[in-house]
Amino acid sequence: MTGGAGSGSDLPFSCRCGAVKGVIERAGPLEGDFVVCHCTDCQTFANRFDAGDRVMDEQDAGTPLYQSRCARMRIESGRDRLRCIHLTEEATLRWYAGCCDTPLFNSYKNGKIPYVTTLVGNCDAGARTRLLGEPIGHLFVDDDPACTGAGRRLSMNTLMRRFFVRMVKDIVSGDRRRSALFDPETLEPVSTPTRLTKETTAHVG
Ligand SMILES: [Zn+2]
Ligand SMILES: [Zn+2]
Repeated sequence: MTGGAGSGSDLPFSCRCGAVKGVIERAGPLEGDFVVCHCTDCQTFANRFDAGDRVMDEQDAGTPLYQSRCARMRIESGRDRLRCIHLTEEATLRWYAGCCDTPLFNSYKNGKIPYVTTLVGNCDAGARTRLLGEPIGHLFVDDDPACTGAGRRLSMNTLMRRFFVRMVKDIVSGDRRRSALFDPETLEPVSTPTRLTKETTAHVG
């Protein structure tokens, strides 16, 4: 990618083919949490779309993620290419670019719990380093035999406590109705979610 790394606090991202483009506005350690996730679902998500080399960290084998307020994520082009899938029975929705099968974001199943987690591997490398710095910790380390264990462990509870403060702001300000991923009225996803069946799961990895 060109540009974006020089100044400002917008963190640009794009899918592999470049049709889906956008920015995380005001990205930084005070506005969101930069972590590395080692959970099985994040690995399934990357591998299902054959995107491990793009979205996973080669050193730690985890997926670098930036969790921030949903209204701060702006899609500049290709919003109609966004697709989403439930990998498990859980409420997490996994978003990808339908044009080129690039895993892009994680979110809650609807806009009522307003977070967006961006797969940092899609972000402009220079801007990412400048704005996010180093991850604050690693999640679900015990799920991942390939993890080197070098980073600080972080519990999901700790992350949720940090997220809770931003969520209250989103709800009070009405920002949760300003997400690119959810309808402002119904808070339902802008693309109908599909579900990974047991049969298709068997082919993963
Ligand atoms: Zn694409
Ligand atoms: Zn994960």
